[in-house]
Amino acid sequence: MKKDWNARTKLVHGGTRRSQYNEVSEAIFLTQGFVYDSAEQAEARFVQSGPDEFIYARYGNPTVAMFEDRIAALEGAEDAFATASGMAAVNGALTSVLRAGDHVVAARALFGSCLYILEEILPRYGVEVTLVDGTDLDQWRAAVRPDTRICFFESVSNPTLEVIDIAGVSEIAHGVGALVIVDNVFATPVFSRALEQGADVVVYSATKHIDGQGRALGGVILGTREYIRKTVEPYMKHTGGSMSPFTAWIMLKGLETMDLRVRAQAATAQALAEALSGDDRLAQVIYPGLPGHPQHDLAMAQMGAGGTVLSLDLKGGQEAAFRFLNALHIVVISNNLGDAKSIATHPATTTHQRLPDAQKTLLGITPGLVRLSCGLEDAGDLIADIRAALDAV
Ligand SMILES: *Cc1c(COP(=O)(O)O)cnc(C)c1O
Repeated sequence: MKKDWNARTKLVHGGTRRSQYNEVSEAIFLTQGFVYDSAEQAEARFVQSGPDEFIYARYGNPTVAMFEDRIAALEGAEDAFATASGMAAVNGALTSVLRAGDHVVAARALFGSCLYILEEILPRYGVEVTLVDGTDLDQWRAAVRPDTRICFFESVSNPTLEVIDIAGVSEIAHGVGALVIVDNVFATPVFSRALEQGADVVVYSATKHIDGQGRALGGVILGTREYIRKTVEPYMKHTGGSMSPFTAWIMLKGLETMDLRVRAQAATAQALAEALSGDDRLAQVIYPGLPGHPQHDLAMAQMGAGGTVLSLDLKGGQEAAFRFLNALHIVVISNNLGDAKSIATHPATTTHQRLPDAQKTLLGITPGLVRLSCGLEDAGDLIADIRAALDAV
């Protein structure tokens, strides 16, 4: 693959491996294992396998390798490891590095399962975790220590869409020798330049924009070849969180159209946010693409767009939010995001239900908050659907 290809070319051709049949569309190598020509070859492969020499699907597979190379090319990463889900990626990126006695600093506004790993799992194995307000660089500065091994955050937080300064946090983290791991789902691979901006490792839930059509769970960890092959791969291949070849094929085909989809979805999100801001039934329209968003300038510098998700805070709390959700006709009530179908979520009673009320308040997850992931429907139809549902409240 040529290094100077632009993003859309990489997304269609990056990582392609053709079999002896020279198929146009990527083949699904739905096999758990591979046959060796001789006992000697089997032995040699277990000692050291080359990039296109496979052993067992938990270790690697040609379809999975195509997906890894394609997303790595887009992200500008040396290498990637594909995982069974976004959470396998988050867990693998963190746990493959950490050992008892290490310290982690993380932003407190995180996806519920990420918080569970940091607050419930890591401390059980002797890892100390400090949570900070990720948007406040002074808090990162105050929290890092010589034994801080990792700084972890979502570059755009779920569901309150705070934007975190990747370059700023990376400078602080690198000052104490810590690794910067960014969960970049809300920024999307299309708008991400996280590695260029200083992050060492980027993780995605491929379930979101990479598939983008609600079919499969998947994830990916991107970083240096040394980190991926020496730290992540041994951990993942022995603990079982690898991506299946069938999922990798879905994700490969997803990557081909991702740039078109995500740009269209972000344009719709921007149009919706603009159309709805100022509506007197809403206490707040949260969207990084709006000039009034607290980190609007940072969002534009870091991503160049506001992303595909906005959050609406309805006056009238949970009752109003539920009436609104129940009155939607096009937008479905569910909990995925980045999908072709627009999806509305009530975080306080679903994705973030587990959190105590005080923590919800601290994170801005109010009873009236509705997260809206914009799909590929006509923007005018969506605005009409949302306005009619607001009327019904
Ligand atoms: C969805 C999501 C995850 C988890 O991904 P799964 O594929 O559901 O395991 C992690 N982080 C963020 C920000 C997410 O939105």
